[in-house]
Amino acid sequence: LKRQMEHSGSLSAIGQLAASIAHELKNAMTSVRGFTELLKLSAEGDSVRYVNVIDSEMDRMESLMAEFLTLSKPTDQEDEVFDLDKSLSDVVTVMDPQATMRNIAIFLDNQVGGPVLVKGKKHRMKQAFINLIKNALEASGEGTTLIVSLEHYDDGHIVVAFGDEGSGMTDLQIKQVFLPFFTTKREGTGLGLPFVLETAESMGGHLFVKSELGKGTRIELLLPVHDRPNVQTDADGAILIS
Ligand code: ADP
Ligand code: MG
Repeated sequence: LKRQMEHSGSLSAIGQLAASIAHELKNAMTSVRGFTELLKLSAEGDSVRYVNVIDSEMDRMESLMAEFLTLSKPTDQEDEVFDLDKSLSDVVTVMDPQATMRNIAIFLDNQVGGPVLVKGKKHRMKQAFINLIKNALEASGEGTTLIVSLEHYDDGHIVVAFGDEGSGMTDLQIKQVFLPFFTTKREGTGLGLPFVLETAESMGGHLFVKSELGKGTRIELLLPVHDRPNVQTDADGAILIS
């Protein structure tokens, strides 16, 4: 846990630096995009291939920058109280076509059996869920199952778990997954899990990784539930403490 905390500190420093650089880079890239489009019009022979490579590398730069910008804006949203069950079912609905395409089944298992209220940045939390589901799908083979569950932890906490039957990770990998830019994927950014960790910690929560090579991975998000104290008042509206 201590190691995870240290990483979140370095992440926000990276985020701040990224904010200023990314905005400048975005302007420069818009112009490169424009001239690449012009080049495409007159490209012949080998140049067609070269221009296409420039194009796809630009796509990659843009997705990296988009993730950078999200990381650098941890306070661009107000905290709100929202229902995790609703957020998870929204996200599963969005991701289900991608899973179906790969013949992977996603199940949502709400073991609490009702709404679960938490307080934080709803949009970021949903993006974090999407990151976790994407990782699970990318690690999973055909015919496997991904179970997203809401599990009671104690009166003050809930666990959101993402359990896949994918490739799993080595112990060394598990130690590195929260490092910004750590990736084992050719097209990866290595910013997904650092983002999820920062989101969890910003809500007073924690993130745990359990994984076994060749068996699968279970990512657990432990979050404090938003307490609605059972306030009782007397005839004059004064709060009664029982
Ligand atoms: P990226 O997905 O861009 O590689 P992430 O930060 O999301 O970056 O993940 C970092 C690394 O953690 C991945 O490259 C992969 O090696 C490992 N990983 C994350 N989630 C899983 C999972 N569910 N199963 C196996 N490996 C995973
Ligand atoms: Mg990822």
